[in-house]
Amino acid sequence: MALVVSGIRPTGNLHLGNYFGAIRNFVKMQEENNCFFFIADYHSLTTHPTPADLHGNVKTVLVEFLACGLNPEKATLYIQSDLPETAELYLLLNMNAYIGELERCTSFKEKIRNQPQNVNVGLLTYPTLMAADIIIHKAQQVPVGKDQEQHLEMARTFANRFNRLYKVNFFPEPVAYNFGEELIKIPGLDGSPKMSKSDNGSSAIFLADSPEMIRKKVMRAVTDSGPVDPDQPRSQGVENLFTLLAYFSGNEALEHFESLYRSGSIRYGDLKKQLAEDIIRFTSPFREKMAALDSDHEYLKKVTNLGAEKARESAGKTIREIRDIIGFKPF
Ligand code: AMP
Repeated sequence: MALVVSGIRPTGNLHLGNYFGAIRNFVKMQEENNCFFFIADYHSLTTHPTPADLHGNVKTVLVEFLACGLNPEKATLYIQSDLPETAELYLLLNMNAYIGELERCTSFKEKIRNQPQNVNVGLLTYPTLMAADIIIHKAQQVPVGKDQEQHLEMARTFANRFNRLYKVNFFPEPVAYNFGEELIKIPGLDGSPKMSKSDNGSSAIFLADSPEMIRKKVMRAVTDSGPVDPDQPRSQGVENLFTLLAYFSGNEALEHFESLYRSGSIRYGDLKKQLAEDIIRFTSPFREKMAALDSDHEYLKKVTNLGAEKARESAGKTIREIRDIIGFKPF
């Protein structure tokens, strides 16, 4: 039973890519491991949300994760800012993090390019905060996407550096969680290979989308003028629709439309209609749970209080030991 930590950025609604690429795995993981999942609201301050937006985004993520099956009794589900121990460890790690190594971080360079008007120190020290999130619980494994591998490498660097500096064997080296199977990638409706919310949601279907919205988005999905030669590779947009059909409509529907494509008699509109209804069937239970949770203030309060309590127990122990190692001793 490994100790696993993962952070979730409160950046709005979850789409089908998030569900199949991340959350579905978290739900499985919590059955076999001691999991800590937190909503990274400290991290989100690098982009300066308003107080109302910040709280709303945290609530959205909390509600959607619970609706997807994260179980607060099995895993520890908490809000990052409910754990000030993380901020203390972040401060301590920053004393031994070097500006040069942080500046070399790919994600930092990307941020400088994307938001040159707001290159704040929080962006530079994103990796030390992330390291603090992980090692505050002495985590052994972290489920990370490709974009986070370098940050995890830095968490190992900071953990090892602390151990060396104080001649202790205190922090374990956190490694990437091994999912055992190929990670699923959900393609976009706009013909892009990966569904994402970056383009105002036109490529993405959100778990919160209404049936009408799903129909509208799927019917607008990018295709082409029809099969020319079935032996030639399909256009990316059409290929994406077939991939989605395989996930949501199953083998029978897939084979049906494959054979229509091969015979040159396919009507993309029919494929889209079938796909839209199957996606609606898949997302409806999530949407219903989300609606119920959204108005259940008492339950959300109970969940976050329980999470904060469990997370503090784990983090408090680590911080007390670190303070002692560093030499902060009571008189
Ligand atoms: P994001 O909020 O876009 O950083 O996504 C959070 C996580 O969701 C990523 O680290 C991936 O694990 C997963 N994810 C996002 N988009 C997709 C996608 N199109 N297909 C599969 N997984 C995805």
